[in-house]
Amino acid sequence: MRRILSRLFIVTFILSLPFWAGAVTPEKPEFRKLADDVYAYIGKLNDANAIVVVTSQGVVVIDTGNNQPETRNILKNIQAVTKQPVRYVIITQNHGDHFGGTPLFSPPAMVIMHERVAKDWKSWKPHLIKSWRKRFPEREEALKDFHPMDTVVTFNDHMTLNLGGKILELIYVDDKYNPGDIGVWLPQSGVLQFVGYKERHPDIRPDYSHGTTWGMLKQLEAFIPLQPKFVVPGHGPISDTKDLQAMIDYLTIARQRVRGVMDKGMALDEIRKQFHMNEYKGWDRTQHLPITAAAIYRELRGEGPEITPSVEKTVKGTIAKIQEEERYLSVTSDAGQSLALRISNATDIEGIADRSHFKPGMKFTALYEEQKQWNEVLEMKIMP
Ligand SMILES: [Zn+2]
Repeated sequence: MRRILSRLFIVTFILSLPFWAGAVTPEKPEFRKLADDVYAYIGKLNDANAIVVVTSQGVVVIDTGNNQPETRNILKNIQAVTKQPVRYVIITQNHGDHFGGTPLFSPPAMVIMHERVAKDWKSWKPHLIKSWRKRFPEREEALKDFHPMDTVVTFNDHMTLNLGGKILELIYVDDKYNPGDIGVWLPQSGVLQFVGYKERHPDIRPDYSHGTTWGMLKQLEAFIPLQPKFVVPGHGPISDTKDLQAMIDYLTIARQRVRGVMDKGMALDEIRKQFHMNEYKGWDRTQHLPITAAAIYRELRGEGPEITPSVEKTVKGTIAKIQEEERYLSVTSDAGQSLALRISNATDIEGIADRSHFKPGMKFTALYEEQKQWNEVLEMKIMP
């Protein structure tokens, strides 16, 4: 019995290992000087990174931190090196872990993004606007009646930002399915911000929310000639030009592998199961691999982004378990059903300050979108 129990314990332990089990950045974030007035904020345990550029006419922040405590920490680090205000925020990808901290800086900071990202922001539902205004309680007054588009500047292919002696080149590599991911190049210091990956399997999804592998290869080929000294990826440790080259190899192998089994007539389910990147053993996020395989399969068949039908539902129940820094909740509905809920920066939470205050046993009502992989919570009300 004891042996069964201990084996059960081991199995449960492995199953409950958090996603960052193979993390390659330290447990504490790092604010690292890369060049004069240029700092990289390296997220803890592979959380999203950011860049801070200090100029004589204000500060530029590139991406805004994984969540509220991280964003506040970025601001604290900025204030430790300069008295200049944050004038611009640049958004390099339309994912909440990169843009979600924007309302700490804007207004008054202007927010620069690709046109495709702005198009998405314009279509935001009311709960997104509401959660935006509430994200930083210390900013309540500034964000009252504020719409996230109120400070937005957009560009299409290329934009140069000159500020207080510093030059920032914003580069979009056009591709039908690039949803607005951009690179930011600082020619004076040789620093490039780019979605890229190192020691972490890329985040390539069938919904093309980071475009396709083809689009990523196009970006890599555009950025490698810049010969960056430092590449600050969206997540993970700082890399350089040779890591960009390594990513080309990675994507090429992945595409060939999927193409090979497709040519043999293998079905998608089987491809998802068999797909491996054993050349990159020890890399973080192996759970991306079946998703990557499905995305490449889709891409090689010439299909557009996967659109998952979403149905809005409501649930009333009790929080049973809190996982992954409050990003996932296991809950029990009043009708006795177990449910997994995903909480993001965009979830409008009422009754507590933010998701870090969740506790097992709390009663709630929630409006959520039922999706294939999880249930995305739009609004959640914690009852007293
Ligand atoms: Zn991210």
